[in-house]
Amino acid sequence: MKPIAKSAKLANVGYDIRGPVLDKARQMEEEGQKIIKLNIGNVAAFGLMPPDEIVQDMIRNLPSQTAAGYTDSKGLFAPRKAVVHYTQEKKIAGVTVDDVYLGNGASELIAMSMNALLDTGDEVLIPAPDYPLHTAVVSLSGGTPVHYRCDEGSGWLPDLDDIRAKVSSRTKAIVVINPNNPTGALYPVDLLQDIVEIARRHQLIIFADEIYDKTLYDGAVHTSIASLAEDVLCVTYNGLSKNYRSCGYRAGWMVVSGPKRHARDYIEGLNMLASMRLCANTPGQLAIQTALGGYQSIKDLVAPGGRLCRQRDLAYDMLSQIPGVSVVKPQAALYMFPRLDPKLYPIADDQQFAYDLLAEEKVLIVQGTGFNWPQPDHFRLVFLPNSDDLTEAIGRIDRFLAHYRKR
Ligand code: PLP
Repeated sequence: MKPIAKSAKLANVGYDIRGPVLDKARQMEEEGQKIIKLNIGNVAAFGLMPPDEIVQDMIRNLPSQTAAGYTDSKGLFAPRKAVVHYTQEKKIAGVTVDDVYLGNGASELIAMSMNALLDTGDEVLIPAPDYPLHTAVVSLSGGTPVHYRCDEGSGWLPDLDDIRAKVSSRTKAIVVINPNNPTGALYPVDLLQDIVEIARRHQLIIFADEIYDKTLYDGAVHTSIASLAEDVLCVTYNGLSKNYRSCGYRAGWMVVSGPKRHARDYIEGLNMLASMRLCANTPGQLAIQTALGGYQSIKDLVAPGGRLCRQRDLAYDMLSQIPGVSVVKPQAALYMFPRLDPKLYPIADDQQFAYDLLAEEKVLIVQGTGFNWPQPDHFRLVFLPNSDDLTEAIGRIDRFLAHYRKR
């Protein structure tokens, strides 16, 4: 029989967060081994459940939604209106219900908005390191991802000179992930203003992924880049997966703001793609309405002494004490992106490094190159496990690295 091959479109598409190292971990689990997983920001897997109010509303709403069937392609009116109110709180000007699209998670909308825009060879500026979905969907849409550097020495902030140097006549857009996955960086207002200025000058769309905008530590405040860019077309993504610990409900949204009249054709494309997938799941849509109605429970987890804040501090302190490991303390989100000094850890292939750590210590991390970081000298971990598991996991990483140094 003729072998069945994947499409050529997938040649440059990757998503290592759920890649071959995870497959290996699954196989080990099937064999009865216990793995400590520091690989995925799946909050529910660590006992961080959605707020009860959201669950109860969902149960209550389910019978009537079952009868209602498909919704408008952009979503139900009331949750979209709740998103409009949210944009008002975030000071994003001029958003109406018509500018709001609900999706099966932000992921679906990120793919939709790139697909509607890109032709073969169009370039999109994407941070390195990045949340790799952005790079993957730009490639899948026929575009070319061009990575701009984030600077570890300045707390992983985007390097503006590198962005300026990488703008070309083919550049259509810039992706800004703030708060950032995988680094945990939160961007200051003046830096966001500088990015807006670059976008303004070169007529780029800003794609703003702000899914962690409430997962903030140390009293930090988040500014939506769209609130600084009334005259620049912005597409802002958000959702319930992280801030409301509801990732299984697949509830996300996307807001188009700025000079929409100049983007009529693009918006027509977005509307068509939204129609083609009919609508987002309705229980998830209604959960958005409940969540944005005021429930703010992430606050307790990220406040000083709260579970996530304690775990961040613990992971940061433990990692910082390992010889040759340095890490920027996250101001936001659920992740750290530690550096392994290449003098002590001469890693040639960081996927192999992740395999070896898994095999020797049964700890699962994701290698840094999986986030489009160009050198094999970083890895990402989530600090979601409780303090005991986190202490055990980082202790094992420490032991593994001690062996590695002696190789
Ligand atoms: N954007 C970032 C930066 C993420 O880290 C994630 C998930 O980890 C997503 C988007 C996907 O969000 P959703 O669950 O809404 O699809």
